[in-house]
Amino acid sequence: MKVRQFYSIRVDLNSLLALIVLSGLLLCVFPQFAASQFILSRESWNAKPPITQRMKRHRIKEIVIHHIGFPKDGNKSIGQKLRKLQTHAQRNKPWGDIPYHFYIDMHGVIAEGRDLKYAGDTNTGYNPANRIHIVLEGDFNREEPGAKQRLALQSLVGKMRSKYSLPASKVFGHGDRAPTACPGEHLHRLVEVLSRGGTI
Ligand SMILES: [Zn+2]
Repeated sequence: MKVRQFYSIRVDLNSLLALIVLSGLLLCVFPQFAASQFILSRESWNAKPPITQRMKRHRIKEIVIHHIGFPKDGNKSIGQKLRKLQTHAQRNKPWGDIPYHFYIDMHGVIAEGRDLKYAGDTNTGYNPANRIHIVLEGDFNREEPGAKQRLALQSLVGKMRSKYSLPASKVFGHGDRAPTACPGEHLHRLVEVLSRGGTI
């Protein structure tokens, strides 16, 4: 009896191990299935309403990746960072909302920014129309994107590429589309991999 029980536990453990190994393999082959599918909503970070009269609808044709340009900050919450960005955009700039459609923080958390229906910036040409603007927290001329940030970016770009039927060649760094050092050389290296359809 005891032997039988022991045997049945062993079988269960073996199945469990097989399941863990299989899930691990699947995540390696399809990293887009990893944890970062979750996107923090505007309500979750207490966004103010957009000033839609300053905004213009657009049709998405490419994806542009940015960095914030300041070092990663472990002392503020993602909500504080996003609210600060939104206040800056609406008060100090003539923008209707945060100028990025998605924000990826230092821990790889993806947050919803500007509504995808609207161009990044209508009034100064900072983030032109017909592009999804994704920004990562950090200064990637000085530091490296973290593993969780890379995974989140890979997953988000994959999701947006299939949503808007965009080929990998439509993924750019800001510096590919305008004279700027954004998104920093360390992130730009990864953007080049994404634009060839590779895994980062
Ligand atoms: Zn940029």
